[in-house]
Amino acid sequence: MHPFTLTKTDDVTEAVQAHAADAHIAYIAGGTDLLGLIKDRVTQPGHLLDINGLPGMSRVEDLADGSLRIGALARMSDVAADAVVRERFPVIAEGLLFAASGQLRNMASIGGNIMQRTRCAYFRDDDAPPCNKRDPGSGCSALHGVNRNHAIFGWSEECVATHPSDVAVAFAALDANVIVRGRDGERSIPFTEFHRLPGDAPEHDNGLRRGDLIVAIEVPARAEGRASHYLKVRDRQSYEFALVSVAAAVTADGGRLRSARLAMGGVAHKPWRLIAAEAALPGVPVYDDEALRSAIATSFTDARPLAGNAFKVELAQRAVLRAIKTAGARA
Ligand SMILES: Cc1cc2nc3c(=O)[nH]c(=O)nc-3n(C[C@H](O)[C@H](O)[C@H](O)COP(=O)(O)OP(=O)(O)OC[C@H]3O[C@@H](n4cnc5c(N)ncnc54)[C@H](O)[C@@H]3O)c2cc1C
Ligand code: SF4
Repeated sequence: MHPFTLTKTDDVTEAVQAHAADAHIAYIAGGTDLLGLIKDRVTQPGHLLDINGLPGMSRVEDLADGSLRIGALARMSDVAADAVVRERFPVIAEGLLFAASGQLRNMASIGGNIMQRTRCAYFRDDDAPPCNKRDPGSGCSALHGVNRNHAIFGWSEECVATHPSDVAVAFAALDANVIVRGRDGERSIPFTEFHRLPGDAPEHDNGLRRGDLIVAIEVPARAEGRASHYLKVRDRQSYEFALVSVAAAVTADGGRLRSARLAMGGVAHKPWRLIAAEAALPGVPVYDDEALRSAIATSFTDARPLAGNAFKVELAQRAVLRAIKTAGARA
């Protein structure tokens, strides 16, 4: 185990300044991903700054305009159990409950969850096979290797990894915002722009800079929130990352969809919005599988499966269909 020192902070400004000034400092919240990455020698920070004492960052706030502010230090289990989240945004509660295990959810924070790194086995292998995300310029072992779990959308020759967070898929579907405190004050980043595609710099999962601290996720009031569902398809029923997953949030009138918000996990380097399908779905009856299927298919014309994961193209479309029907039944 790489040796490191640890201090605690209860001051946001001091935390941001310290992190900005020293590239060897890493923030630590629950530690459930960071410590694994240190053990696997993916990252070797010399100092961990424990942010769990930062004030006001563990709450779920139901704001007057119907939006929700989820503190970055709120634990996954607490957010999943929150009555307002369960009633108004079941897709968020389900995205959290289908993730990891009870013990992990008790430790893991929302900020840490959306910052977790890919589960690509080559990336996490402490024998360090070629991996551009871990060691830029070394190559991508998954591109022509074992890539069953990897991307079918938006990948590059440099990296074909997927983003592993479940709740991030729900946040993307709901057009949430990530509230970040940095050296120049606070800013709001649309969730769909928070994570990036690999391009030629897969070592960067997102656009955060040194010092940047996630303080909250804000979820706007959405009519679709109540009739929403998170469907996760995985190799075993618990304690497993998604092969494909779907966040679906809809409104419907007389059995016909009025609007749909759709995002997928397990298919790209970031939560993947199904923009074309969202545009094709209004007016389609929730019970008409054929019409639903053809609307969904409009978002798969640019799917580019790898040698090991062509099955995901069909599996993903079936999952979207099921998720829409479950969400539609709640409308
Ligand atoms: C066995 C196992 C199974 C899992 N299964 C799933 C699953 O099915 N679905 C799923 O979604 N997740 C899963 N996870 C991942 C788990 O949810 C994450 O490890 C957890 O959410 C990370 O939160 P944390 O507070 O422990 O983060 P930490 O490990 O403390 O931090 C993770 C990263 O985030 C950074 N960070 C933390 N907080 C902030 C902040 N506020 N601002 C800026 N940077 C910050 C840290 O510096 C670090 O780089 C699994 C994990 C394990 C170990
Ligand atoms: S897919 Fe990305 S993370 Fe996996 S080996 Fe290739 S470069 Fe590394």
